[in-house]
Amino acid sequence: MNTHSPRYIGRFAPSPTGPLHLGSMLTALASYLDAKSNKGLWLVRIDDLDPPRAANGACGQILNTLERFQLNWDDEVVYQSQRHSHYQDYLQRCIALKLAYRCTCSRNKIIAAGGIYAGTCLTSPPPRDEKTYAIRIKSPKTPIKFKDQCQGEVKQHIPSTVGDFIIKRKDGLYAYHLACAVDDHLQGITHIVRGRDLMDSTPRQIYLQQVLGFSTPSYLHLPVVVNSKGQKLSKQTHAPNVAQLPVKDTLYHLLFALGLTPPESIKDNIGLMLDWGIDHWRSRDTINKQSIIESSLNF
Ligand code: GLU
Ligand code: ZN
Repeated sequence: MNTHSPRYIGRFAPSPTGPLHLGSMLTALASYLDAKSNKGLWLVRIDDLDPPRAANGACGQILNTLERFQLNWDDEVVYQSQRHSHYQDYLQRCIALKLAYRCTCSRNKIIAAGGIYAGTCLTSPPPRDEKTYAIRIKSPKTPIKFKDQCQGEVKQHIPSTVGDFIIKRKDGLYAYHLACAVDDHLQGITHIVRGRDLMDSTPRQIYLQQVLGFSTPSYLHLPVVVNSKGQKLSKQTHAPNVAQLPVKDTLYHLLFALGLTPPESIKDNIGLMLDWGIDHWRSRDTINKQSIIESSLNF
């Protein structure tokens, strides 16, 4: 890490559940352009918190694809699977603050009750000798608000939207919200650019930042790329692997998808396209806020 602390540290944090698709590549590119146009650092973190979900070889493929697009990261890649002791420390802090409690309720029971956790195990705690339990955090009474750089004002009242939420799962894995808040803090992240599909989880992460005494980064939630049926691109919807698409054409179309209009003359040079993108990046004004249809990328 640089010895001076720059005003801007951004990151791209893919979950290695499969290769990058156009939606994740759009996020990678936008977060890179936002960081570089602010003379910031751009880090890559692999969110492999959940090893059973991490597809074999996906990490290597993701990093390789980023390299082929010349999206060069500024420090060592961080792997969440190697950071459990940090998550444990901050989990302990939530417990010490008396904000955390054990829960043995099954997912199905919560879904059957409407999907919002009603605090059942706070009012009637599981037996002391119970070995298998999740840990939840009490949710804040007042709504969490933030101003998103693309989507505008966002406000969420966590108790009536999700309820007290899990910070450590029954199977022993730390929850994504906790890991994300802790890593963003420890990595000194000042700006988060990611897909709009994650916007509902941002208030929970901001709440954890507040509880743990972290500062809150600036957020920019990008539109998600959807297929012709309106489904978000993902492994489940059989999104094509970016590694199999031609780099220059893909990059050129992704710049358009971000509302930019690069000249045809730079289409043959990845470095020139990136430099042009950095010079012309105006995140707030050019992005279509909701979704981008895959076919508009002209493949
Ligand atoms: N790993 C998460 C995902 O790929 C994103 C994390 C983030 O950008 O905060 O869905
Ligand atoms: Zn419970």
